[in-house]
Amino acid sequence: MKKHPWKNLDKLKNAVRGKKIILFGPPGSGKGNRSRDLEALGLVHVSSGIALRAAVKDDPESDLSKNAASYMEQGALVPDEIIVPIIMEHLSQEKCQTNGFILDGFPRTQAQAEALFSKIKIDLALYLDVPRKFLVFGIIEGNRRVCVECATGYSDFDLPHIEGVCDKCGGKLVTRADDHIETIEKRLKLYDEQTKPFLPYIKVKTALEILPITLRDEEDIDEKYLKTLKGQVYWVETDQGVKARMLNLEGMRERLYNLLAEKFL
Ligand code: AMP
Repeated sequence: MKKHPWKNLDKLKNAVRGKKIILFGPPGSGKGNRSRDLEALGLVHVSSGIALRAAVKDDPESDLSKNAASYMEQGALVPDEIIVPIIMEHLSQEKCQTNGFILDGFPRTQAQAEALFSKIKIDLALYLDVPRKFLVFGIIEGNRRVCVECATGYSDFDLPHIEGVCDKCGGKLVTRADDHIETIEKRLKLYDEQTKPFLPYIKVKTALEILPITLRDEEDIDEKYLKTLKGQVYWVETDQGVKARMLNLEGMRERLYNLLAEKFL
């Protein structure tokens, strides 16, 4: 992996200030964690999943909450009429306009993409490219757990320093209610059917960059950037059927910051 092409983080923060970025990728591809990395640069994190879970928690008896919760529990998509106004309202806030934002989990349908692009000019779409075999495996076998406070995600491949406690904010780590095999497979199927097909549309509307989690064989890299399982470097089978090493949380942050530096500095 290349050495930082930027001198210090403040320079990168200035370069990305005000940028409007969307994250694109299947469930389990690391959208939440990449969002944390972008938030650390000063962008406002807007997550459709978090916004929906917050709306349901704040007012569980409202019609909107009951309606949304019933879709979410089954791993189905909440209807566009519910999610589009919630997200557009978030994005219209002053802080999103001034600082820029990172949009995570939206758009997930062509109609959502059209609603977004008709109102807002997006600077960059990032596609998180993770081998299919790792998506379900990483969540289930890796025992994914998320922080209740800041939603940072961990797993047996990316362990927290203290089990059960978030490294970043000290919040409690829990398993998400919808992280079981049936809902994950359903969420993946929905991604294939409804979300992935409009990737070419996104490419027409904004700059699309791919952020792969795997490494090329010849890539020379410090082991501290690699995913491990029980202390051993983990090799995944890629969609092309070859074995590859994968970047861990720190490695992906480096790769992301390198890409942003090349693009915006
Ligand atoms: P996430 O935290 O992004 O995995 O989202 C959790 C759940 O919220 C999904 O399984 C959907 O039920 C719902 N959801 C999140 N974002 C959207 C969206 N853009 N469109 C429809 N439903 C969504």
